Amino acid sequence: MCGVFGIIGGQCEASKLAYFGLYSLQHRGQESAGIATLDDRGAVHYHKGMGLVPQVFTENIIQSLPGRQAIGHVRYSTTGASQIKNAQPIVVPLPGGETALLAHNGNLVNTAELRAELEAGGVELQMSSDSEIIGRLLAKNYQGDAAAALTAIAPKLKGAFALVVLTRGQIIGMRDPYGIRPLCLGALANDGGYVLASESCALDITGAALVREVRKGEIITLTADAVTSIIYDDTKPSALCVFEYIYFARPDSYIEGRNVYKAREKFGELLYREHPVDADVVIPVPDSGIPAAVGFAKASGIPYEAGLIKNRYVGRTFINPSQSMRELGVRLKLNPLPEVLDGRRVVLLDDSIVRGTTSAKLVRLLRDHGAREVHFRVSAPPSVSPCYYGIDTPLKSELIAANYSVPEICQKLGADTLGYLSIASMREAIGLQDFGFCQGCFDRVYKAGVPQGEELGLIYKDC
Ligand code: AMP
Repeated sequence: MCGVFGIIGGQCEASKLAYFGLYSLQHRGQESAGIATLDDRGAVHYHKGMGLVPQVFTENIIQSLPGRQAIGHVRYSTTGASQIKNAQPIVVPLPGGETALLAHNGNLVNTAELRAELEAGGVELQMSSDSEIIGRLLAKNYQGDAAAALTAIAPKLKGAFALVVLTRGQIIGMRDPYGIRPLCLGALANDGGYVLASESCALDITGAALVREVRKGEIITLTADAVTSIIYDDTKPSALCVFEYIYFARPDSYIEGRNVYKAREKFGELLYREHPVDADVVIPVPDSGIPAAVGFAKASGIPYEAGLIKNRYVGRTFINPSQSMRELGVRLKLNPLPEVLDGRRVVLLDDSIVRGTTSAKLVRLLRDHGAREVHFRVSAPPSVSPCYYGIDTPLKSELIAANYSVPEICQKLGADTLGYLSIASMREAIGLQDFGFCQGCFDRVYKAGVPQGEELGLIYKDC
């Protein structure tokens, strides 16, 4: 779970636009942020640090990153690898004295194999992330043309990757042959120049217009005034991550032409069709449950109200890796409003139940503050299996829906009723009926393969 951004051309300093782009992608990663630029002489400038975008960058730092091309990266917190050395973009020295800069979103499933191969060839790896491996392979295959080197290494890379690579005079976007992680192309309005970003919300802030998605199996090369594209692999089915629509992407983003907010609202409408209930009020778990709660309220005629008030300054609850801190985080983040809850039959709407920790606490909190009944509705199917392609979900043993039936989960949460959206309705709500998605977390089908050692639960999880 990361956000990537790249920009070339335009009148503003590239580092400034990258800063605003990354700010808009902050929801994709709060652990670290980084921006790298190449100036007109080909010299590299970069800054990265732990924390949120505005914590990592000051005005002075942005000004110390000159050049008309920049890339940026925000990284999500994952257990065990929360270190500055894993922050991106990665600086990749190329043969001949040039440098490439690389930012990666996704997860390779054959990291162990590639790592062993590189190490056997005498390469010393510094980071624990698979992104460095891609960088090293790129360097090894570079003969003066980065797009050609990426094409050469593509068959080796198994799993999910959306990459932005910057070399002198060009930025390159690349998506895996299944198109699992999103990446879109924008054109800067007046000045010429292009932007690549994980989500379209990051184009809006830079004044770039969305041109199209980078395609699955595509390497797209952008200079200040030209676009070249090669499809290096068109043999695989499309498998865009469906969880982007459910939870991860920002509601104001468009993915494959479908607005994320509208898809979520429709999840809520169809959830009511599947799991109707007689109740007095629909309450979202903010922010992720809001659009679906709006849809559920519209479809049911039950009034929508804010019954949980969110502290805007607390990050996503999964940020703290330890369970005890996660529990404290729930109360810090969400406070119930007794005025809305007292004596009422509540529909509580959230986008997903992962471990069940947050959800159980919320049900209890609502009851403690007066709710007479709590009907939990989830605007996604049960999360029954981990993600191997870059969404930070826990191992199967920790996923409540992988281990218990819906009635058992309902009991564990202490809810009166529990209803999940079906896979069919989820797909209906998104539309794009002829388009292929990865929904492995819901149906255990992993089109791009799973890592070796997966059955042992020993996978290294990184973004
Ligand atoms: P829990 O009840 O403890 O499983 O937590 C469910 C909450 O976690 C929901 O509010 C989701 O919006 C949120 N959530 C779902 N998937 C993720 C994820 N991969 N990272 C962080 N939060 C998530």
